[in-house]
Amino acid sequence: ASVQRDDNSTTDTGNGQSFKGHGMLAPFTPGWQIADVNPLVIEKSEGTYVYDINGKKYLDSLAGLWSTSLGGSEPRLVAAATEQLKTLPFYHSFWNRTTKPSLELAKEILEIFTARKMGKVFFTNSGSEANDSQVKLVWYYNNALGRPKKKKIISRLKGYHGSTLVAASLTGIPALHQKFDLPVPFVLHTDCPHYWRYHLPGETEEEFSSRLANNLEKLILKEGPETIAAFIAEPVIGSGGVILPPATYFDKIQAVLKKYDVLFIADEVICGFGRLGTMFGCDKYNIKPDLVSVAKALSSAYIPIGGVLVSPEVSDVIHSQSNKLGNFAHGFTYSGHPVACAVAIETLKIYKERNILELVNNLSPRFQDGLKAYHNSPIIGEIRGTGLISGTEFTDNKSPDNPFPPEWGVAAYFGEMCEKYGMLVRVSGDTITMSPPFCVTPEEIDEIISIYGKALKDTEERVKELKSK
Ligand code: PMP
Repeated sequence: ASVQRDDNSTTDTGNGQSFKGHGMLAPFTPGWQIADVNPLVIEKSEGTYVYDINGKKYLDSLAGLWSTSLGGSEPRLVAAATEQLKTLPFYHSFWNRTTKPSLELAKEILEIFTARKMGKVFFTNSGSEANDSQVKLVWYYNNALGRPKKKKIISRLKGYHGSTLVAASLTGIPALHQKFDLPVPFVLHTDCPHYWRYHLPGETEEEFSSRLANNLEKLILKEGPETIAAFIAEPVIGSGGVILPPATYFDKIQAVLKKYDVLFIADEVICGFGRLGTMFGCDKYNIKPDLVSVAKALSSAYIPIGGVLVSPEVSDVIHSQSNKLGNFAHGFTYSGHPVACAVAIETLKIYKERNILELVNNLSPRFQDGLKAYHNSPIIGEIRGTGLISGTEFTDNKSPDNPFPPEWGVAAYFGEMCEKYGMLVRVSGDTITMSPPFCVTPEEIDEIISIYGKALKDTEERVKELKSK
C-alpha cells in the first residue's frame, strides 16, 4: 500500500493548477488516487531533504527509493554527467565496440567487490533488468554445460527483485503477481526468513535457520536437483519490510545450494555499496555468490544504471558458449551508457574518499538505537535494522499474530503523520521502512527520530480511538 493522503493534505500547486487525473499510468499507485488525490510533486532536492512544488520541505528518510545514497545535491555527480555529456553523450557497447567509462566502471566494480573474486560485469539500466539478465545468464550457462533441464529458479516469499516479467515472478509479494498471470512456472518460492514472525514456539534463531535450510533442501529434492538452476536472495530483504537473516541462515542455505550444484544470485540492489555498513551484504553475511545484481546506489540514483557481476566460472562458460554460437546475444542499447558509467565511477570515488563504511557505521547506532527506544509502544510489533536501514512493523499486543485490521491503515496513517511533520517514509503493508542517505548528519538523524516519535504518538491515539468504536 502506498501512503494515502487525504485530499486536503499537501499539494495544491500554489498556482491554482490541479494534477488530479494526470496522464501517467503511475507505478505502484491505484487509479482512484490518480483520479481523486493530487500527487505529491517533488521539485527540488538538497542533501537529505526534498521540496514539493509549494516549497514544503521533507526529510527524505528513504533516500528516494533506497537509492539516493549521496543525497540530493552532490555537485560532483552533476559535473561528472555534464563532462561526459559534452565529450560523448552516447555510444553503445555491442560488437566489441565500447566506451572508456564503461570499461573503467567494470574494472572498478570488480575491484570493489571482494566477498569473492568475480570475473565480469554486465551492465543494465535497472535492478529489474539485472535480475532478468541473471536468469538468462543462468539458462545460457546450463545450456552450455549440457544441462537443459536445470532451469528453475528459487526465490523467497517477501523477497523483492523487480517488476519486469521474470523479476516480478522472482519477487515473493502477491501484489506483484495478482492479475498479471505470475509467477512464471519456472520460479518457485521458499520460506521468508523472518524469525520474529515465523519461528515456532521455543525455536532458536539457529534452529529456525536449520528448518528453513531443510525446507529448501526438501523443495530441491521434490522438484529434482537436476531441474534447479539458481537461488536468488537479498542479503537483507528491503521492500518486503527490512527483514534481516537469522543467525546461521546464509551458511546453512549455501551448504544446501552447494550440495545440489545450485547457483547463488545475491540481489545487492539495496544492500550494495555500504547500506548495511559493509561494502556489500555478501561481506556482512559471508555469502560467496556466483552472480550479483547491483543498481540504485551504484550511481546514487542520479542516473539509471544497474549491473550483474558474474563469477569467473560462470563467465568462462558463457564466453566459450558464445564463441561456439558466434555471439553472446544479450544486451541493451544502454548497457554501459557512458554518462551513467561516468556518474557511477564518480559515485564510487566519493564512497572511497569519504570512507562511506566508517560513516555508516558511525551513524548507525544513533539511528538504530534512537528508533529502538520506541519498541515498547503497544502498537509496534518489531523494530529492526542494521547500518542505515530500518523497518517498523505495526501489530497489536506485540504479537506477529495480531495484525491490525487492514482497513484501519495503521502504517499508512503513520506515514501520513510523518508527511505532515515533514518526513517521507515508505509504507509496505503493516511495515514502514527508512534508509536515509549517507550524507545524513547526526542532527538529521535526531530529527528523523523526533518526527517518528510524534507520528507514533498520533498513531497510538488513532488506534485507541478506532478500538473504542
Ligand atoms: N532488487 C531489489 C532488492 C530491489 O530493491 C529493487 C527495487 N526496489 C529491484 C531489484 C528492482 O530494481 P528497479 O526498480 O531498478 O528495476
